[in-house]
This record gives sequence, C-alpha cells and structure tokens, in this order.
Amino acid sequence: MDDHALQRLQSACAPVLDAAGLLSGQAIEPRYCRDWTGGEGRPLAVLRPRSPEEVARVMTLLNGLGQPVVVQGGMTGLVGSCVPQHGEVVLSMERLRTIEEFDTGAGTVQVQAGVALEALQQHVQAKGWLFPVDIGSRGSCQIGGIIATNAGGNRVLRYGMTRQSVLGLEVVLPNGSVVSRLGKALKDNAGYDLKHAFIGSEGTLGIITRAQLALQPLPTTQQTALVSVDGFPQVLALLALCRQRLGAALSSFEVMWRDYYDTVTVQLRKGRGGFAQAGSHLVLVESMGNHAHTDAQAFEQALAQFMEQVPSAQVIVAQSMADAQQLWALRDASGEAAQAIAPYAGFDVSLPIDRMQTWTQEVHARLAAQGMRQVQTYGHVGDGNLHLCVGGLHAVGAKALVDELVHSTIGQLGGSISGEHGIGLLKKKHLAYCRSPAELALMHTLKRSLDPQLLLNRGRIFDLSPLHP
Ligand SMILES: Cc1cc2nc3c(=O)[nH]c(=O)nc-3n(C[C@H](O)[C@H](O)[C@H](O)COP(=O)(O)OP(=O)(O)OC[C@H]3O[C@@H](n4cnc5c(N)ncnc54)[C@H](O)[C@@H]3O)c2cc1C
Repeated sequence: MDDHALQRLQSACAPVLDAAGLLSGQAIEPRYCRDWTGGEGRPLAVLRPRSPEEVARVMTLLNGLGQPVVVQGGMTGLVGSCVPQHGEVVLSMERLRTIEEFDTGAGTVQVQAGVALEALQQHVQAKGWLFPVDIGSRGSCQIGGIIATNAGGNRVLRYGMTRQSVLGLEVVLPNGSVVSRLGKALKDNAGYDLKHAFIGSEGTLGIITRAQLALQPLPTTQQTALVSVDGFPQVLALLALCRQRLGAALSSFEVMWRDYYDTVTVQLRKGRGGFAQAGSHLVLVESMGNHAHTDAQAFEQALAQFMEQVPSAQVIVAQSMADAQQLWALRDASGEAAQAIAPYAGFDVSLPIDRMQTWTQEVHARLAAQGMRQVQTYGHVGDGNLHLCVGGLHAVGAKALVDELVHSTIGQLGGSISGEHGIGLLKKKHLAYCRSPAELALMHTLKRSLDPQLLLNRGRIFDLSPLHP
C-alpha cells in the first residue's frame, strides 16, 4: 500500500522537485522523524522544495492526490506537532534560506520561511538593527516556525510576541494557491488583516513561505539585576515600579520561585546567585536603551527606590556583560533543570498577573497532595506567562494525571493552557479548558473552509473528521 502511494507521489513530484527534493526509504534521516519532544514517527517521504514557488506547485500536487502532509521547520516546537503521523509526507522548509531584501532605511527585512532565527538576528545586527524575537532555540528554529507558533521569549514585555514583528506574509494554502501580502507599511486596514489568521495557527491553515518583518533600533546599553524578595506581592510591587520608572526601556522581568532557583544553584551549580539567604522569589530585571550616560543611572535609581519601599529586598546589579551573563545563566538553565527531575511534564500557562499567586499556591498544594514534590516554577511574569515543571513522574499514568490537574485549574481564572508553545498534538485534549464552544466551532469552520480535505497538519490543535459528500 505504502509502496503504491510512494510511487504515485514520486511520479507526480518528478517534474517539480530535483533529485534531493524527494527522500524516501533509507535516505530519510532520523531528524525528520522526531522533534524536540522525543516523539517519533516515520513519514512516507520527505519533500524538500527549493523555493516558495516550488512549495505552491508541490501543494497543488498533494491536494490533487489527497495526500496528508506535515510541515517541518527547525523541529524545536514543544508540543509534538512536527512528528509525522501515519501516512503523512513531510514538507521540509530547510532549503528556503534566502534573506531576500533588507531595507536598512525603513528597518524591514523580507525573508524566506526557512531562514534560521539566529542567522537573521546576526544579519540585521551587523547593520545596527535588532530582530527582537529571541528564544533559546534560536540556532535551529526558523522564521516560518516562530511565526506559525507565534513564539514569545524573554523580551515580549518590550517588543511583543512574534505577531508584533510581522508586517506581511506570503502563504501557500492547502490547495496550492498563493496568498501574498508582503507590504512594508505598518498601517493597512483594507479589509481583513489575513496574516493574523496564519500567525500562531501551527501550520494548520497554510504554509508560510515568505515574511516581511519589522526591525527595531539596536539598543546600545543593557542593565541587568537580580532582585531577591519575600512573597509574590513584592514581585508585583517591583514590576509596577519598574514599569513606571523605566517605561519602554524595561525589556525583561523574569521570576524564579525558590523551587526552580534552588535546583539551578544548588543541584546544578549554575549561574551566579550570590545571596547569603535568598528570599522566596528571585527576579531578573533587565532594561535596554540608547543613552550611555543616563540608562544605568535610571535603572539603579529605580532599584534604589524599591529598596526604600521594601528594605528586606536584596539586589545584585551586574557590573559587566560577564556579570549579566552569569545572572541570565540562572534563567537559561531551565532545560537542564527539567532534565534533573526527568521524567517530567512541562507547562506554559498564561493568566492575569494578579491571579498568579492564587494559581501557583493552589496547584502546588494539589500536587503535594498527590505526593508530587519535584516542582519547578518560573516564568515571564511581566507577560502573564508561567512555566511549571513537575518531575519524578515514573508511575504509569502519572503524566496524564498531572496534565489534568494543572490544565483543569487554569480556565476558571481567565487563563490559557498555552502562553507560548501552542497546542499541537500534546495539549489538544485540554483545549476546551480555556476555549469556549463558540471559539472552537469558529476554529473548526476556518480549518474546514481552507482545508476541506484536512490534508495539512491534520489532528494538530484539534481533531476533525472529514466530511463525506
Ligand atoms: C530550547 C528551547 C527554547 C524555547 N524557548 C521558547 C520561548 O522562550 N518562547 C516560545 O514561545 N517558544 C519557545 N520554544 C518553542 C518554540 O515554539 C520553537 O522553538 C519555535 O517557535 C518553533 O520553530 P521551529 O522552526 O523549530 O518550528 P517547528 O518545531 O519545526 O514547527 C512548529 C510548528 O510550526 C509549523 N511550521 C513550521 N514551519 C512552518 C511554516 N513555514 N509554515 C507553516 N507552519 C510551519 C509546524 O508544522 C509545527 O506545527 C523553545 C523551544 C526550545 C527547544
């Protein structure tokens, strides 16, 4: 059966793809079969178009064949979306690596979807511009992937999610037709702003082939401090003060609970903690600016004002880039911290900042009642996004139990089961905890209208059955 399907695919694609454009059998390397989450599946074939135009031609063919397809970017997604499911072919974007136009006057750049995030960052930085989305997977993840997942990261507080940096998109629809709007203007209210339907759609509505991106002036100063406080209300007081005093210069406000901080500093011996007695919460505060003489002073004055309000707080201000890196190493060690308590379940919920304390206390208590004490809590609190990692899940069914326990508590507080990583295959069971029936119905309608055969990234985000005429 598979042999027949493969032969059909090979003869259909032969006029479009070159010899390296269709891989099958032994030529399919393991990297196409598994993603960062460790899930595995074997595709019927891997298709590697060389250009956006080839993507469109390939999709027209696949649509004609009724062939299911999964799109692969850098394979760093954390919800299992890219793992090939039975009968799927992989559409890899790895050969679409051209930076097509860089307008250094306007601060815009047009790229193909397969350009790696770090390659783009370095390219624009050399000319004094910043592409502000920055995440730990920067070396591997692609522009198409971060747009398809609307990635966040450490600087959302100042620059927004990926969505805020996208001016225009070119998308290939499941039937192979191309919808292109790559304008550089920020303002465009002529009808629906269609790009937003595709940003964060996890590859279920169309394949992003090109993007027009907005850049930011490259900051020339960076101030970093680690603040130790006792109690979440003090975290909120510090956030409010930093927002008021530093305004748009405030670029990061990352909070680590002691359960996470102790794993990193004591168990992993990473980063520079440096407090004789750390408080209950550690806050990494960062500001960026372009005023060499005044930025550091404004930052230190804001922290001094906080110390006057909360004398029990402790502060370490980085005196050099090396110091700053040592402080960031605490927060950047989240991957290793999770590994230290494997097997684990990771969460990236979002919720109103004023509900965070209630939520963490309730979830910690419910986990403890189940005997689950290996917990790490940290997050981009300034953006309302919390990460929770629960480890030691050796027992059969323990992961499913924790998933249910954590996700079932979030909707009633006005939160979301995913602040950043998306739903994919791993969280779809719990989507209804934070999306209403009306919202889900509209999502289904959108999917069916753009992809009536359900060929593209089928079963990601939610399950739908094909409609039979
Ligand atoms: C170490 C690490 C740190 C991370 N940190 C963060 C973080 O701070 N914030 C955050 O938000 N996320 C983070 N992530 C997860 C994040 O979602 C991904 O790193 C990134 O956004 C995905 O890009 P990718 O190219 O690897 O996409 P993939 O993993 O290849 O794909 C992700 C999804 O997008 C789809 N897709 C990929 N390319 C396209 C395309 N061109 N058109 C349509 N659909 C496409 C895929 O089908 C899939 O559904 C992290 C991941 C890792 C491993």
